[in-house]
Amino acid sequence: MIIGQLLADSGLPLLEARMLLERVLEKPRAWLIAHADEAAGAAAAEAFASMVERRRRGEPIAYILGEREFYGREFQVAPSVLIPRPETELLVELALARIPVNESVRVLDLGTGSGAIAVTLAKERPQARLTAVDVDYAALSVARANAKRHRVNVRFFCGDWFGALSGESFDLIVANPPYVASADPHLAAGDVRFEPQRALVGGADGLECIRVIVAQARAHLNPGAWLLFEHGYDQAAACRALLEAQAYGDIQTWPDLAGIARVSGGRVAPAEGGADLE
Ligand code: GLN
Repeated sequence: MIIGQLLADSGLPLLEARMLLERVLEKPRAWLIAHADEAAGAAAAEAFASMVERRRRGEPIAYILGEREFYGREFQVAPSVLIPRPETELLVELALARIPVNESVRVLDLGTGSGAIAVTLAKERPQARLTAVDVDYAALSVARANAKRHRVNVRFFCGDWFGALSGESFDLIVANPPYVASADPHLAAGDVRFEPQRALVGGADGLECIRVIVAQARAHLNPGAWLLFEHGYDQAAACRALLEAQAYGDIQTWPDLAGIARVSGGRVAPAEGGADLE
């Protein structure tokens, strides 16, 4: 079977078909394009057909390949974890702006899932000391695999938000918590259907987890430390109100690249005359 024909006959968008065939043939995209009129072997054609079939049934490309790129690195993903989204790179950028390059600050990632956020922060700020928690063991094993793959040292705990962290405090806490409302029709569409509900759904109004995090984080933040978390497109005002009710300072919301209010945060008061983490 000719490569170009295989791609065209798959019935998938060309980009997706290429991503699958690249994996089967273990060749980069440029090779596929340059060799479009060559034949692929029968075994390769068969392996490709079975991936195409999975994709046609709706399975996300990231789960079929077992990988997704985030902040310029490849991360292992599995159906136990949310597929990293490009908009979450905003949370990473905001966190990096608050982690000094040469200081060994303590950073916590709540609900780490694939570990994409924690591992990225550890790679970008080798001096930072990363802790990551998730309530799901299967997710944690994916996160651990990603820390190993990228050769970073992250402390992992299994627990419900701060459940495994009593007495610990941090210089920065980040989270991409579940924030979709349980009746949101978006849950029944596209890739999201295949993702863990537990990583997506934040109760009836989507804010259940954010409420808990905003309330509990205070006791785990050092003076001057920020809490930053991702939320839904229509939740910014509600999130800022939650932060205000818990007396955070410097409360802000930031838009993602699509202009959607995507991350909010605030911080506890800096110590009198103490160092001020900006
Ligand atoms: N942004 C994701 C979505 O809309 C939700 C991610 C999350 O709940 N943290 O599918």
